[in-house]
Amino acid sequence: MEALRRRTCRFCPEPCCITNTVWFDFRDLLAMHLLDELIPFRQAAAESGEPCPFLGHHGCRLPWRMRPWMCLKYICPAQRALMKKDGRPDPAGLGDQIIKIEDQRFQMETEVIARIRRGRTSPSSFSPAWRQ
Ligand code: SF4
Repeated sequence: MEALRRRTCRFCPEPCCITNTVWFDFRDLLAMHLLDELIPFRQAAAESGEPCPFLGHHGCRLPWRMRPWMCLKYICPAQRALMKKDGRPDPAGLGDQIIKIEDQRFQMETEVIARIRRGRTSPSSFSPAWRQ
């Protein structure tokens, strides 16, 4: 995807990092935490029509694993056209992969929340200091 972005983004008349409002959702932050990545110091969202605060002169300044999922999964029409031209996997197949990853993100969130809830209701999870 990065190679594809390098071939399209700098020629784009309406860069999505300026025209769209994006943000880190809870699952993004949870994944970063579980992967021991740094948590971004601010939300990605900016005022409508303002560039994303992480957009630099050469594109996104965030490492791939720290970008909002909504940025990672977006394949613009120019990129789809290039993929088709290059004979790369068809975007529909990529769409299936994206759906799988989204399912895994939901599972991760559900599992973490369930573990937190189990931890809260289990008396053995409280330290003796809490009981005194
Ligand atoms: S986080 Fe990066 S890829 Fe996403 S909108 Fe901001 S600059 Fe663009």
